[in-house]
Amino acid sequence: MHRVDLRRLILLLTIAATLLTFAISFHASYQTLRSQLMSQTLEANRAYAAKLAHSTDNFLKAAQQQLAYSAALLPEMLGQAERLDAEVTRLKEQTGTFNGVFIVCAKGRVQAVAPWRPGLVDSVLQTEGAQRALAARAPLISTPYVGLRGHLLVFLSQPIFAPDGRYLGYVGGAIHLGESDGSLQALLGNHYYQDGSQLYVVDGNRHLLHHQDPSRTGGVAAGNAAVEAVLRGEEGSRRLREASGIDMLAGYAPVPSSGWGVVAQRPTAATLTALDGLMLDILLNALPFFIPVLAAIWWLSQLIARPLRQLAVTARHWEHAAARTEIRQVRSWYFEAEQLRLAMLGGLSLLHRKLGRLNQENVTDPLTGLANRRGLQLALERWQEQNRPFAAIAVDIDHFKQVNDTYGHDVGDRVLQHVSRLMRSVSRSGDLVCRGGGEEFTLLLPEAGLEAAAQVAERLRVLSGQTKSPTGGGVTLSAGVAHWPSCAASPSAVLKLADEALYRAKRSGRNRIALAGQLEVGSEDAPVS
Ligand code: GH3
Ligand code: MG
Ligand code: MG
Repeated sequence: MHRVDLRRLILLLTIAATLLTFAISFHASYQTLRSQLMSQTLEANRAYAAKLAHSTDNFLKAAQQQLAYSAALLPEMLGQAERLDAEVTRLKEQTGTFNGVFIVCAKGRVQAVAPWRPGLVDSVLQTEGAQRALAARAPLISTPYVGLRGHLLVFLSQPIFAPDGRYLGYVGGAIHLGESDGSLQALLGNHYYQDGSQLYVVDGNRHLLHHQDPSRTGGVAAGNAAVEAVLRGEEGSRRLREASGIDMLAGYAPVPSSGWGVVAQRPTAATLTALDGLMLDILLNALPFFIPVLAAIWWLSQLIARPLRQLAVTARHWEHAAARTEIRQVRSWYFEAEQLRLAMLGGLSLLHRKLGRLNQENVTDPLTGLANRRGLQLALERWQEQNRPFAAIAVDIDHFKQVNDTYGHDVGDRVLQHVSRLMRSVSRSGDLVCRGGGEEFTLLLPEAGLEAAAQVAERLRVLSGQTKSPTGGGVTLSAGVAHWPSCAASPSAVLKLADEALYRAKRSGRNRIALAGQLEVGSEDAPVS
């Protein structure tokens, strides 16, 4: 089964964690900015509504004050047409607050009017404002209505009382609504907002006294929570849903002197469109950091995973000779990798030691500790591969059967060990001494010529004959010498030639050596010198 590798796991984990963290902080910034934008807009709208409500209140108080001042002067002017005309003209022209000024007697007949219009003086005013002013006998601000000349207006009036308290009539001023010549309109301004923001003034009956869309002035405000609250006299702000379904952020403030209310509102959606740009900015600002961070993550994951990966790959071909060097070269820069590396190296050398011992046992003769036939074979193969010339000496103990018969098998064994020691003593360190089985031995001498090998064989023969063996006396032996490649083409043929030479030596009377392809050259009587 194919499994995901560590580097990918680290990458996946780190990138997922990074992205998740970024997403969470992005979301948190979004929420924070969003609520900040909304509360800022709410507060701005409240402040704007409060400012306009305060100005409107002052404006109405000033207008009423003008009328009140005039009402105090008027009792002594009543009946004097010229002075009344002068008074209405002064009221109309002095501040420009009113679009029309009337002085009306207690019976409702017009005494003076500005601007002057034919037929109006002495007539009874039938307008709503006039009727209510007459009935109220008190300072009054009317609800909006359509006046004589078709203008939508509010009517402000102050009663006139004689010094003895008799009601003499009223002085009143009309202010046009929603028109460019209206003073209230001038005060509230004529803004038109592209984003759906609204500014409007309602009276106690929810009539729109002012709306930034002039066509709506005079209509009835669609009921919403801000209108309800401001008509209860509250100042504040809230998020609300208009009757039309639009989500709005509204600020509102009452106009105490008239019971009106000012509402400034902006669609929530319009407020939050700024947010999209802000979030995009955040994203674009984060991007330049994000790319190096990803690169660093990639690089680090590589760095962490590499030692483990190298160890894992090496573990797959553990038996290869190169595995040890590869493991040694792994740069395990952190604890776990280093421990694994050391454990693998330890395991590997233990394995090699065990294998080496098994191998050794495989190629060793247990009785003498010499190489056995398999060891001999391996050495021959190696030298042949290396094209390394060698000489072979085949050795056989003379009349060994008699040794066994005379002294017993155990002494026979010790004689074999004794002869093997002698063979080792005459050989050099690179030579291979081998027991082929029974009392037959082979001595392989790499880089030695036939003559040199013959001398070694002779030295062995003489030594063995003179050295005390476990039987108490010397042991005689015979030997055959051959050389590769000068005597035969293949190493095994050379061994055969050495054997043939050995049997020649035996046939010739034993205790002598013979060379392959030659007559025997040494004997007890005529040893090779
Ligand atoms: P020659 O070589 O001189 O012709 O006479 P020989 O007596 O040595 O001849 P042969 O090869 O017939 O005898 C070999 C004897 O070596 C036969 C066997 O009893 C003995 N032998 C073989 N292997 C061992 C061994 O491992 N230990 C002992 N003690 N004797 C062995
Ligand atoms: Mg023998
Ligand atoms: Mg034999």
